[in-house]
Amino acid sequence: MSRVLFFPHGARIAVLTQEVVGVLDYLAPEGGVRLGQLVVVPLGPRRVMGAVWGEGMGDFDMAKLRPVARLIDAPPLSPEMIEFLERMAEYTLTPLPSMLRMATRAPDLDQPPSARRIIHRAGPPPERMTDARSAVLRVIDDHGGAGFAPGELAQLAGVTSSVVQGLVKAGTLAEVLAPRDVPYPKLDPDLPGKPLAPDQSEAAEQLRAALRSRRYGTTLLRGVTGSGKTEVYLEAVAECLRQGRQALVLLPEIALSSEFLNRVEARFGAQPGEWHSGITRSERRRLWMMAATHNVGMVVGARSALFLPFADLGLIVVDEEHDGSYKQEDVVYYSARDMAVLRASIAGAQVVLASATPSVESWVNAGAGKYARVDLRSRYGTAELPEMGTIDLREADMEKGRWISPRLAAEIRARQAKGEQSLLFLNRRGYAPITACRACGQQVGCDDCDARMVEHRFQNRLVCHQCGATKPIPVACPACGVEGKMVAVGPGVERLAEEVAERFPDARASVLSSDLFGSARALKEAIAEIGAGETDIIIGTQLVAKGHNFPRLTLVGVIDADLGLQGADLRAAERSFQLMRQVAGRAGREGGGARGVALLQTHQPDHPVIRAILSGRDEEFWDAEAASRQSAGMPPYGRLAGIILSHPDQPVVEDYARVLAQRSDPLRAIGAELWGPAPAPIARIRGRARVRMLIRAPRQAPVQAAIRDWLAIAPKAPTNLRLSVDIDPQSFF
Ligand code: ADP
Ligand code: ZN
Repeated sequence: MSRVLFFPHGARIAVLTQEVVGVLDYLAPEGGVRLGQLVVVPLGPRRVMGAVWGEGMGDFDMAKLRPVARLIDAPPLSPEMIEFLERMAEYTLTPLPSMLRMATRAPDLDQPPSARRIIHRAGPPPERMTDARSAVLRVIDDHGGAGFAPGELAQLAGVTSSVVQGLVKAGTLAEVLAPRDVPYPKLDPDLPGKPLAPDQSEAAEQLRAALRSRRYGTTLLRGVTGSGKTEVYLEAVAECLRQGRQALVLLPEIALSSEFLNRVEARFGAQPGEWHSGITRSERRRLWMMAATHNVGMVVGARSALFLPFADLGLIVVDEEHDGSYKQEDVVYYSARDMAVLRASIAGAQVVLASATPSVESWVNAGAGKYARVDLRSRYGTAELPEMGTIDLREADMEKGRWISPRLAAEIRARQAKGEQSLLFLNRRGYAPITACRACGQQVGCDDCDARMVEHRFQNRLVCHQCGATKPIPVACPACGVEGKMVAVGPGVERLAEEVAERFPDARASVLSSDLFGSARALKEAIAEIGAGETDIIIGTQLVAKGHNFPRLTLVGVIDADLGLQGADLRAAERSFQLMRQVAGRAGREGGGARGVALLQTHQPDHPVIRAILSGRDEEFWDAEAASRQSAGMPPYGRLAGIILSHPDQPVVEDYARVLAQRSDPLRAIGAELWGPAPAPIARIRGRARVRMLIRAPRQAPVQAAIRDWLAIAPKAPTNLRLSVDIDPQSFF
């Protein structure tokens, strides 16, 4: 697409504002303005931020156009970024202003780049310690002593700024002037990497060759956990850096990055830029600026790093590409994995999708030749895949209120005797999934949602995992009023931890569950401790399934392998396959001699997913899963789009959805089917009634255009109704 890149003073230009109104015409200010320039424009009585989006085209009277108020001193968005945002908006049916907000999600872009005041730790704790003061120190320590703006520090700690000032006076903290926007240290791609095994170096060479083409392409890098995928794609990063281009590595969870950053430093001599919810505001701004000015070579980040304004992006790695956290289902519904492919195709960059258990979509794309495929067949060195087995819970002699079978317990004891680690995996946060009354059978539900409340004993409260609402654990049953009859039913990780403490009193146990850590740093520390061997028994949710290296871990016990086998969800089988394969892959990674063992406790040892996991013939699982999707016309062989409507009143949302469904000619015109409306599986969230519709269309059908036409002819929506479109939905809640 060719675009005019500069608009002289007085030219009619289009500016995309961050407001709902979208693109409006203005006049270029004195001195002219570049395409993509961030600007402030008048909008009625207000001033709002926007970006110069192209030539103006409105029929608005030229004489009435208002000029741009002022330019923001930040690098302009590139034509490539503008095209990416436009095409993503079209694909996901997201209004452009929301896209602009994603691309400018760095604070203080409007501030000059000069020095700023920051607070950092300077001396010993004060003599007089208060709760407020220790809250401040905790925030500082959680961020590894990073610098904060004074107001930000007070806000994060939940205290007034006088508390912060008090600590400065006491000499515990100091306030200094620090330069903003310092370039990141250069990474050196020519430091020697680890010598690669033959299949690894072949894989690395294939990725390097793809990069040398300097054109778009996607490669699926598949290999069992521990086969060296990370080593291999770091070689692709090295090639990208040698070419003088920038590389982005997306990871599913911040928990991955502490180990990961050190690995990058070991390979390239310096740490990469880091982007996730745990970084400070000043780091955020710095990284945004440095990406745009090519002063950072490599960025490691969570999914939203995809919207950083890289000046010359040459490579995007999506590690654990199958991971569900790449799908955002809030405000903007998008898959970062799929949008990485879109962005790379516009930038002329390469994509590497790495996984031990790829999504069925990527598996099919590789099979069809749309993606190249590289396989690492064995684990690095002597480490072998764990021996897999099941424990049939129908025959195990389970004690009441216990979740670890006698056989699994014996295996744990054997590990403990040898100084090796065991991991117990249960994908359920909290103490117990159900709190029920023994007198009347009533289960405690959330007042605002259609979900059961989960007991969290550490917090001593019931928590709704849907909306986050909490309430005290009731003494009397809310339904029948009988006291002292409330019981916890079923296990969560906290309850499992209790059982471990009772049955293995001399073992050091550690629970890894996302809600038990106040900060990303605390979680990283816990993971580092486990890695150093300071734990005998690890109890964890899906948090542990991802990428950590625990060298002394030789036993994995899956407490309830049946969880997730039967869901209302298209991907239930795929997800539990991936999860269990990965958890099992934690065992015996380093190959220090001991081969790992993974034991799955299940009531259905003959279930096809369990059998595929045990056999180790993963291809069979994917081929079978792909075939069943194909015969059902489901993704990736057909296309799905979810429509989610919500309103405080159930009849209102139901009526409106029914009318929409009746007038769906534009959908029928492309051969799409419309299912629903039906109450969403969780029919109330945060006090809003929810209704879903699902559209299924043939693979090549223009779904987005049809949905746009359909919604355009829809009758006016009742006030307070919300409608979201979820293209390629991952979850069906
Ligand atoms: P994956 O990403 O496939 O899970 P990793 O790249 O993390 O695998 O490798 C697993 C472990 O093996 C890591 O500790 C890594 O450092 C080590 N490793 C892999 N390849 C090599 C190699 N060629 N030389 C030395 N160590 C290696
Ligand atoms: Zn709730």
